[in-house]
Amino acid sequence: MDPTHCLSSLNIDAAVFVAASTFLGFSLLTAWLLRQEYFFGREYFLSAVCGVLWWLAFAGLEMATPGLGCKMAFGSLAWPAIALVPVSWFLFLRHYCQGGRIGGRRLEAGILGGIVLSVTAIVATNPWHGLFYLPGTHLAVIDGRLSEVFLHGPLFYGATALLYVFLLSSVGIAAFGAFRAARAQRPMLLMMLFGTLAPIVANLAYVLFKATVFGFDPTPFAFAFVLLVLTWAIYGNRTFDLTTVARDLIYFNVADPVLVVTARGQIAGLNPAAGLLMPDLAPGTALDPAGPFASLLELMEKGERPSPAREPVELGGRTLDLRFLPIWRPLGTGRTLLGAVALMTDTTELRRNAARLEAALAQSRDRLAEITRLREAAEASARSDPLTGLGNRRALDRQFEAATEREGAIALALIDIDHFKQINDRLGHAMGDRVLQRFAVELSAVLPEGARAFRIGGEEFLTLCPGQDTGAVVDLLEKLARRLEADPPLRDGDLPRLTFSAGVAMRPGDGRSLGQLTARADARLYEAKRRGRNQILHLDAARRDAADAAAVLSGPPRPASA
Ligand code: GH3
Ligand code: MG
Ligand code: MG
Repeated sequence: MDPTHCLSSLNIDAAVFVAASTFLGFSLLTAWLLRQEYFFGREYFLSAVCGVLWWLAFAGLEMATPGLGCKMAFGSLAWPAIALVPVSWFLFLRHYCQGGRIGGRRLEAGILGGIVLSVTAIVATNPWHGLFYLPGTHLAVIDGRLSEVFLHGPLFYGATALLYVFLLSSVGIAAFGAFRAARAQRPMLLMMLFGTLAPIVANLAYVLFKATVFGFDPTPFAFAFVLLVLTWAIYGNRTFDLTTVARDLIYFNVADPVLVVTARGQIAGLNPAAGLLMPDLAPGTALDPAGPFASLLELMEKGERPSPAREPVELGGRTLDLRFLPIWRPLGTGRTLLGAVALMTDTTELRRNAARLEAALAQSRDRLAEITRLREAAEASARSDPLTGLGNRRALDRQFEAATEREGAIALALIDIDHFKQINDRLGHAMGDRVLQRFAVELSAVLPEGARAFRIGGEEFLTLCPGQDTGAVVDLLEKLARRLEADPPLRDGDLPRLTFSAGVAMRPGDGRSLGQLTARADARLYEAKRRGRNQILHLDAARRDAADAAAVLSGPPRPASA
């Protein structure tokens, strides 16, 4: 039979018009579907949709053509689609409800292609074997239209049975999915179940009870209707939209409590974390106006945008940072607050750790201060003379360095107690120590501001007087001598009065370094000793001899004794 010949004598009546409109509507749906987002099993859903399109096209042509031969030709051409639809539907449900492939895309394509091709081959070879449609197929008026009355052969029942295996498996998958699904997804899976059952019922009614639509098999129309509804459901409901699922997953699994509140202050919903934290809260109950969400309720009452709560709240022994997100009415003009989401972040551990860290830091700070104090004490003791408490040589080096940084001029005096050995020898070392201590006290007492005294040897002392001139140093040494005379450290008549000799050097006149200055002072001290002790020299022997002796020699202002 030549289908092109059949196309030339089409008879368009209301029934054909309905079929053609359904086909057209479905084509638009397919075009739209192709541009939509992915959902699980979309490729098989599309293949089912294409199958229905094909089926509808040839159903329309079969209705429109008047002759039995043409009707049978178009009827046969519908069979690839009749095979394609249930197998595609089965594969779609496998993906949509169970997310799994049957063994990879190839096997699935093999099953689909194999069944479609076999059924097509069986139908196409009917003129030879006559086992699909029996020879007695004839035309009759059904539902007021001229339709063919098929006499079905064993191959028809075989092919139908095979396709029913897929349809019934689809029913099983949808039913099992609906039974197992989470509550939120159950309506969708029940729709899938209905969508699978409806064409089966239509087909059974046709095969068993000869029920027809315009004298025609109602199955493709049932499929078309169901696919339309399901397409709307998938994209309208978006149950399987990944981001929607992800949002749900976060809401149900996040450790942060989430509370959804209506504008009237009633709880619209709370996630499991919130339920754990606040077991007495339930959807539908009102929030306590004096509770931790008081500020949220207050803001919503005023219709104001809920802003982040400033203070953290204490709930069930936990500390939570609160954040309020407003839910505005999505439609219409003006901003109407529908409710808000209270998002809580459990900061208990964070705060606990911060407190621990703060305590540990404070402890380290205390320890560091103690270490610093000990180190400073150790350094100070390393720089001080234990007997007199004056600075030692190390302290002298430091002080000299510091003094030269601040001042250019420095007066330095090297002091040595006269005949000290005698004190030790006659009164004992302990008494000698006490005399040294007393000498240090008296020396410190006469120091001007900014000057420092050091003990640099057994009974040798040194004073640094930054910014002072020779006269000032001589003055202070004379003052020291007068004090020792006024209140002698030793009152033993057998011993000579405690006196000292000193050599004075000036920076920069006598040198710049501590070494140079002490060498010059030491030379003058030595000269003072040589000249009979108990005197202060501030000029070298050669220069002194050249000058007027009385003018440059500054002896202690008292008669020298012993
Ligand atoms: P001069 O007038 O030439 O300086 O005679 P001197 O006896 O003071 O000097 P000398 O260098 O001969 O003796 C210094 C003595 O100081 C020797 C030592 O036993 C004593 N001496 C050194 N250090 C200490 C100390 O820490 N305590 C005591 N008690 N005596 C000390
Ligand atoms: Mg000495
Ligand atoms: Mg001495």
